[in-house]
Amino acid sequence: MNKLKETIYGQMGIDRDVYELGEAWCCKLKERFEAIDQVAEYNQLKVVKAMQEARVSEACLTGTTGYGYNDLGRETLEAVYAGIFHTEDALVRPQITCGTHALALALMSNLRPGDEILSPVGKPYDTLEEVIGIRDSKGSLKEYGISYSQVNLLPDGEFDYAGIQNAINPNTRLVTIQRSKGYEPRKTLSVDRIGQLIAFIKDIRSDIICMVDNCYGEFVETIEPTDVGADMVVGSLIKNPGGGLAPIGGYIAGKKEYIENAAYRLTSPGLGKEVGASLGVLPAFYQGLFLAPTVVASALKGAVFAANILESLGFAVVPDGKESRHDIIQAVTFGSPQGVISFCKGIQAAAPVDSFVTPEPWDMPGYDSQVIMAAGAFVSGSSIELSADGPIKPPYAVYFQGGLTFPHAKFGILKAVQELKNSGVIRLDS
Ligand SMILES: *Cc1c(COP(=O)(O)O)cnc(C)c1O
Repeated sequence: MNKLKETIYGQMGIDRDVYELGEAWCCKLKERFEAIDQVAEYNQLKVVKAMQEARVSEACLTGTTGYGYNDLGRETLEAVYAGIFHTEDALVRPQITCGTHALALALMSNLRPGDEILSPVGKPYDTLEEVIGIRDSKGSLKEYGISYSQVNLLPDGEFDYAGIQNAINPNTRLVTIQRSKGYEPRKTLSVDRIGQLIAFIKDIRSDIICMVDNCYGEFVETIEPTDVGADMVVGSLIKNPGGGLAPIGGYIAGKKEYIENAAYRLTSPGLGKEVGASLGVLPAFYQGLFLAPTVVASALKGAVFAANILESLGFAVVPDGKESRHDIIQAVTFGSPQGVISFCKGIQAAAPVDSFVTPEPWDMPGYDSQVIMAAGAFVSGSSIELSADGPIKPPYAVYFQGGLTFPHAKFGILKAVQELKNSGVIRLDS
């Protein structure tokens, strides 16, 4: 078997020393991988339990067209999501175009002029700056008279409880908590820590809505933010919960009242959840959700493997090789443009789709430096599939995530290491 494997890695452009480095790390990480599999096993049953309790049937897999009245598959899927997140209700729709849209929807539907949003965990994800109006934008919440305040984490990463208490005022209506670090240097929040923060806020005023941006966090742990007091969790179906199969979509799960508000905003006052044809996407939504726990486990193993191998080659990695994981993102700092470019080229070269194209840094709208991206995905822009991107500016870091299967994530990382070797960024002298 080893001989066979080594041969095919060779045929795929992986040198023997790179292959052996990978084998050595897989061996050392066995226990880590086993722990990840245990979480996946629990979450697999959690998903099946929710599907059985919602009585998913073959009829749920056929979609509707037109208005989409009485769409059994859509309504049942929303019950499944509510079952998984232990919430009163959920909105899971292909009409929610992406994660940013889902978050904007949750905010815009539940806030009214004069209300204030508080982010107690520092700056939110880039695209939310325009939703909220932190950066002026047409249609932002700011234009509608909704204000925003922010409390940064303390330098040691702890919550600034005094600052948060100070920031809460009679207008504070909603607190937004981003679970994943996104492109910030802070650590990702564990579900436990999110629970502590929510308990603190609810203790000050129990009527403040606590919303969690759950992007990249779903199924990484055995509990979700709604298990520790969150009123709403929000995310994208082309990340974790779509399991790589959902071709579009977003979700909001939470208290009935907040989901109702979101539905009236997504469609129309008076119509709410009753319309919205599911067309042909339901089989992919169901099957993707069914696969999501093991897909997330594969992505997590890939992230842990990448962290350890790149750390051993001398690069700074966040999280580090040993830390516990609360999302699927891995940051690697290369310190040079060539490191970023080589890494992304390697990831692209490992892709099942578009492996023959070479990613180049380009001037992406909305960014203040060139950005390079690697993504050879079945679903365009899907970041539960193996993908990486990095701005070409100091400290020259790459953000890497995904991998629908661990063997593919592993191959991608070895391909990236091979590119780093080929371009002279690293030397492997064993
Ligand atoms: C990806 C992401 C978003 C936005 O989702 P899009 O689908 O890219 O619009 C928001 N918040 C976090 C933390 C994310 O990772």
